[in-house]
Amino acid sequence: HAKSLGKNNCQFYSAQLSQVVHQRLLLEASLGRAIRGHELLLYYQPKVDLRSGRMIGAEALVRWNHPEQGLLAPANFIPVAEQTGLIVPLGDWVLCEACAALQQLRGSGPSDFVISVNLAARQLRQREFVAHLAEILKVHEVAPEQIELEVTESQLMDNPAEAMEALTDLKAMGVRLSIDDFGTGYSSLSYLQKFPVDVIKIDRSFLVKSDDDHAVIMRAIIALGHSLKLKVIAEGVETQDQLAFLRDHDCDQIQGNYFSPAVSSVALQDMIARDTRLPS
Ligand code: C2E
Ligand code: MG
Ligand code: MG
Ligand code: MG
Repeated sequence: HAKSLGKNNCQFYSAQLSQVVHQRLLLEASLGRAIRGHELLLYYQPKVDLRSGRMIGAEALVRWNHPEQGLLAPANFIPVAEQTGLIVPLGDWVLCEACAALQQLRGSGPSDFVISVNLAARQLRQREFVAHLAEILKVHEVAPEQIELEVTESQLMDNPAEAMEALTDLKAMGVRLSIDDFGTGYSSLSYLQKFPVDVIKIDRSFLVKSDDDHAVIMRAIIALGHSLKLKVIAEGVETQDQLAFLRDHDCDQIQGNYFSPAVSSVALQDMIARDTRLPS
């Protein structure tokens, strides 16, 4: 392909390419350092039960406190971490940190408070992942029921048979499992019924517009989840109207900036200590 562009174009092309490769290598090296050098931070976004208004758990969301660029959101580094394999040590760090937070909460918070952690495809595919997770839980004396693993719908449908095997092993350990970004992938209903998951997380995109089409889909997903005996949580809830809609349609839980954005572990502990609730 490059040959047909002629000599000069080819040189231009490779100069551009090496620029991109160079940037990638820089990012990869600095992310590697960040993982080892304590530049990562874990934030927590509360999840609230709609009936009681109480916080039932929180999702752990990683941030990179970059020495020059400040606090970076996952979109800036998770894709590179996934491509390079750095997601495995990064994911390990997240799991350990989440378990340490649960250990810290012990005594002050409800004993059934759940912290959920996002799992990358590559982590799920690791043969030793289940044993490894069991070890992390043991070291931090965390009950498996207090950890929830979020796996995206598209990740699951990428290779459903393989995903089924991994999820079955994880479920046998006792951890909770949820399908993240639900509605954006193409779930086969027969798989959905077989996956040993506890929760469906409806993707934020279905809430953003409150037109009729989206309302119909939301209603259908909630009904589907309930008929499969799953809990249904809506993510990205920002407004009173969205909350009212979800209450009307019997959604179980919400997560979103309306109640609270992702906060530091100290702020989360403070919210738990004050028993901060969603007003009814
Ligand atoms: P996700 O798992 O779907 O997480 C929800 C995202 O929606 C978070 O973005 C959260 O801050 C954002 N969000 C929640 N409520 C609202 C709201 O009311 N309005 C708006 N506009 N946004 C809201 P965040 O923290 O930037 O994370 C983005 C994605 O990065 C996550 O999507 C997840 O896929 C990935 N990610 C985050 N932490 C980790 C991690 O530790 N490991 C892996 N593998 N992926 C992670
Ligand atoms: Mg998630
Ligand atoms: Mg999500
Ligand atoms: Mg999402």
